[in-house]
Amino acid sequence: MKLTYLGTGAAEGWPALFCNCKNCREASRLGGRNIRTRSQTLVNHDLLLDLPPDTYYHKLMSGLDFSAVKYLFVTHWHMDHFYPQELTVRGSVYSHRMASRDLDIYCAAGTKALFDQVSWEANKETLETLHFHILTPFEPVTAGDYTVTPLPGNHMHELKNGQPFIYLIEQAGRRVLYAHDTGIFYPEVWDFLGKCGHIGLVSLDGTCGASKVGPKGGHMGLPDDREVRARLIEMGACDSTTRFVLNHFSHNDGLLYDQMIREAGPDFTVSYDGMEIEC
Ligand SMILES: [Zn+2]
Ligand SMILES: [Zn+2]
Ligand SMILES: [Zn+2]
Repeated sequence: MKLTYLGTGAAEGWPALFCNCKNCREASRLGGRNIRTRSQTLVNHDLLLDLPPDTYYHKLMSGLDFSAVKYLFVTHWHMDHFYPQELTVRGSVYSHRMASRDLDIYCAAGTKALFDQVSWEANKETLETLHFHILTPFEPVTAGDYTVTPLPGNHMHELKNGQPFIYLIEQAGRRVLYAHDTGIFYPEVWDFLGKCGHIGLVSLDGTCGASKVGPKGGHMGLPDDREVRARLIEMGACDSTTRFVLNHFSHNDGLLYDQMIREAGPDFTVSYDGMEIEC
């Protein structure tokens, strides 16, 4: 599988829209890999993870054909992962000669409810091409030649409105664990990961930079990522061939790209907008 990290920032982006903090000003000054748009990752050319408000910008920057995406898996309903109005300009008079007429969308019921609030803006022809599938934790779904298992993310359930998911994506004997947004995993997720087979790439929540978050924060920082990595290796789900990628960085606790590389060391690949990685 090939993963393209189109956006690698947390909710407000980095630099953040309305922010003048030191980290944002420095990111603006340095540019390059310090500029982080909202999180979105493409698997191969046809499976998309999340639909943030920066999706259109990602199309501009990457030159990718987003009409070729057949499967959209949404991690959760936070704005930086799901901006449902963008779907109202798919198909109909808005998009011609699309590579795939239909789009299968996999998410929690609360995430679909957000789309339902804006679906009145969509033409009938558009709505006919969007097929929602409501996911249940631990119940795998088949999407083309992918098998995707939604696992409950440890991410702000108290905010109500839908189950956050992290995803185990399998294709042709390869496995990717995409874990955004989440804190350290729940016990039942560890149990599942202990039996799922070898994972080739683990994409971990790096929201909090070098700070330790612990099990109740809903995100992770480097000490938490190290803990998760060590445990996955110890239980045999991962080994020295597994790539560990950090993603979803925030200006609040975050380190600029070069600082993050130094802090993370050789055990982790620090993502940046536009990064491609094979698994
Ligand atoms: Zn997020
Ligand atoms: Zn800032
Ligand atoms: Zn979130």
